[in-house]
Amino acid sequence: MVTQPHTDQLRETLQSLKLDCMADNLDALCDQAAQEEWTYATFLGQLLEEELAARDQRRLAVTTKMARFPFHKTLEQFDFAFQPSVEKRRIQELASLRFVSSGSNVLFLGPPGVGKTHLAIGLGLKALQAGLSTYFVSVPELMDLVGHDAQRGQLPKRMQQLYKPKVLILDEMGYLPLERPIATFLFQLVAKRYEKGAIILSSNKSFSEWGELFTDQVLATALLDRLLHHSTIINIRGQSYRLKEKRQAGVFQRPEALEAPSSAPA
Ligand code: ADP
Ligand code: MG
Repeated sequence: MVTQPHTDQLRETLQSLKLDCMADNLDALCDQAAQEEWTYATFLGQLLEEELAARDQRRLAVTTKMARFPFHKTLEQFDFAFQPSVEKRRIQELASLRFVSSGSNVLFLGPPGVGKTHLAIGLGLKALQAGLSTYFVSVPELMDLVGHDAQRGQLPKRMQQLYKPKVLILDEMGYLPLERPIATFLFQLVAKRYEKGAIILSSNKSFSEWGELFTDQVLATALLDRLLHHSTIINIRGQSYRLKEKRQAGVFQRPEALEAPSSAPA
């Protein structure tokens, strides 16, 4: 059995090596090892596993923050019974992240409040848990960023930032018409990531409306061509989850009229 002075010294050594989790768990694991008569290898393996798990947790916390999700919702929190047009099996297949390794895309289409952003974030969280870099940006936000970057000559830097992550989530395509600089930027981004980096995109507009959205049919067609070539399209036709409780409480008499605002983002 390890004596007290030995464990004290060992703890200090672990701390100076910045193996804090191992240091914290040392006493408990020494006791457990003695009681259960572990081999040296089992003991060391257990101690290292604790450190590794703690590091993974820290890494996940950092990468999740860097992904800039607007809220934190998991696939497990998604109520498939409420939204029957979303097949659980298809989402589970996407959660296997095969689409990321093959550089294909996922498109969530549907009216506001049906869970497009929730599902995109849920998949993003799965990707992060698997150690795949992920970044979230909404198209209206990107429009502002691109406007500023263009003035400062920093568009190449922005392109590089959005090219790098294994998974890029482009949310809310379609709420605002796209002016020329953002339309061109989006085309270049999709072209650059084509077959290399996965895009998860959400939109309230059907593809036939994208020409109008881009105010350029040729550009929209060229972008859609690349975006859709390797893609999974999830068409969500259903009611807004946001209005569910209010509707149940009888607050809205005509919820349909409130579900499809022409300009306000979801
Ligand atoms: P959209 O992006 O389609 O406008 P969101 O994903 O933002 O909708 O969903 C609106 C809110 O409702 C979010 O808080 C989301 O977590 C929740 N929500 C939507 N659909 C579901 C669902 N089927 N189960 C659980 N929560 C849902
Ligand atoms: Mg949304």
